[in-house]
Amino acid sequence: MNFTHDIIIVGAGLAGLRAAVECVGQADVAVVSKVLPTRSHSGAAQGGITAALGNEEEDRWEWHHFDTVKGSDYLGDQDAIEIMVRDAPRVIYELEHMGVPFSRTPEGKIGQRNFGGHTRDYGQRPVKRACYAADRTGRVVLDTLYDQCLRHDVKFYPEHYVLSFSFDRERCTGVVAYDLATGELLSLQAKAVLLATGGCGKIYRTTSNGFASTGDGMSLAYRSGIPLEDMEFIQFHPTGLYPLGILVSEAARGEGGLLRNRFGERFMERYAPTVKDLAARDVVSRAILTEIREKRGIDGKDYVHLDLIHLGKEKIEERLWEITSFVRIYLGIDPVYEPIPVQPTCHYIMGGIPTDVDGRVLKDEKGSVAPGLYAAGECACVSVHGANRLGCNSLLDLLVFGRRSGLAMKNDVLRYGHGSISAEPLKRMESRIKDLLVPKGKEKVDSLRQKMQSMMMESGSVFRNEEGLKKGIEEIRTLKERYQEVGVSNQKKAFNYELMEVIELEHELDLSEAILLSALHRRESRGAHWREDFPHRADRYYLKHSLVLLTVKGPEVRYKPVKITKFQPEARVY
Ligand SMILES: Cc1cc2nc3c(=O)[nH]c(=O)nc-3n(C[C@H](O)[C@H](O)[C@H](O)COP(=O)(O)OP(=O)(O)OC[C@H]3O[C@@H](n4cnc5c(N)ncnc54)[C@H](O)[C@@H]3O)c2cc1C
Repeated sequence: MNFTHDIIIVGAGLAGLRAAVECVGQADVAVVSKVLPTRSHSGAAQGGITAALGNEEEDRWEWHHFDTVKGSDYLGDQDAIEIMVRDAPRVIYELEHMGVPFSRTPEGKIGQRNFGGHTRDYGQRPVKRACYAADRTGRVVLDTLYDQCLRHDVKFYPEHYVLSFSFDRERCTGVVAYDLATGELLSLQAKAVLLATGGCGKIYRTTSNGFASTGDGMSLAYRSGIPLEDMEFIQFHPTGLYPLGILVSEAARGEGGLLRNRFGERFMERYAPTVKDLAARDVVSRAILTEIREKRGIDGKDYVHLDLIHLGKEKIEERLWEITSFVRIYLGIDPVYEPIPVQPTCHYIMGGIPTDVDGRVLKDEKGSVAPGLYAAGECACVSVHGANRLGCNSLLDLLVFGRRSGLAMKNDVLRYGHGSISAEPLKRMESRIKDLLVPKGKEKVDSLRQKMQSMMMESGSVFRNEEGLKKGIEEIRTLKERYQEVGVSNQKKAFNYELMEVIELEHELDLSEAILLSALHRRESRGAHWREDFPHRADRYYLKHSLVLLTVKGPEVRYKPVKITKFQPEARVY
């Protein structure tokens, strides 16, 4: 089956939906999503969205700019960061006008809370900058944008899995999608395709990410000859619920929660004397793991405590209701009376598909544009987070650059017509699926995935070194060979999730290799990339973005410069 639209958006998270809202009225827009749109991972975002509104105390976009650059360990592109933080207040008022029910101050202004690394007076003390709706911010924004899309007749293809792109020479002219309900393949033609497919946290065993975060869009771009930028920078959030990895939002520390070791000591005072528990995530995650390595974990185990008890029942239940209910349900612990066991959990990828500040995908280190292809959200790298993202800057990134991508696509679409679409990608996918469904494989998807996830924890998590990275790359390559023998035992056409997982695993293996390879080549420590064998930042050699490109000889690492406008790199202390 063939369908034609002006614009196809792959992904119904906040980045995809915000782009769709921008295009309606002037272009025929369709959103394709492998999950039901409102099940997109953005709905799990708890803590908030940053903007220097100054509703609770003085704040300025210039401080937000500085904090984000410093948080990125000077690897973020400062021109893109400036665009984002200057646009932030408009984003919040726009959401308010669309109907987002933000929490309020007693005077009725939009409430704001502290988040790690957000400060006033260029790092002097924490500032309340995150606008929030209790601890369900992503949920309410996602529902609001979805309503806006329905109101404006955006066409949705829910539970449709995008398997590949179509190209007319160099121009992307559409996608091939697999309808999970029927098992049929569709060819969707468009003048512009936006990838808004989210992150790839499921590559790691301990993760806060949901089952859909398998990095499909990044891998599809990579396999089409687009390099991936800064893939070595994987954020581990300090407070994953032990032992599950489910997130306890930084909002808990933003509201006054404290980290303690087995002696009850507030150990962050030693690692970040100025902002303490509200230091950037990379710093806090390393501090927790150092406490654990030095035997100051609780009962000698792999976790520390997050203590909310002093906040009192009323505040905990009003501001942190969802988080505390998770703790009660999953661990049987009541955070009103007992501390919460936490350990770092894989949370976010700072790298991704390189784009300009209008979402146009860049296909090389010179910045040449890949025609017809756009990317926004966690799968993209603008780059506003550099080597480490600050809390609540992701939702801001999705909304600012989702909108800008929508604007750019709309303008481009008006300029050109549909390219031709060949039947070849659809035929190729038909034969791939047929091939996977032939019962042949001796390898099982679950066991290969578990091996990959364990290997990524061992080799490519918070602490890294050359030996571990080399071993990890070797093992991932072995898993790629074994993947050739993987079989699908479920032969049904409708809702064949096993088939989908096999396809996802191929993406995840590609990305694992790209992450480990760029980490091996970066022989310094910066932001979330900490090399035990090179424990210092080396601006002279590595103040540059990495690019992994898939060549005929295999993946190759290249570099491109960082854009520095206002803030020269300095020592990063909190
Ligand atoms: C638990 C948790 C809490 C968080 N809290 C915050 C917070 O408070 N503030 C903040 O700023 N950030 C937060 N983050 C980060 C932030 O939520 C994510 O970075 C962001 O939601 C990603 O949005 P996205 O639009 O890029 O993608 P997602 O919301 O992940 O959506 C991806 C979409 O792509 C679709 N898709 C993927 N692959 C395919 C395919 N092959 N075919 C078709 N469709 C596909 C999916 O169906 C989905 O619709 C949090 C993250 C987590 C995990």
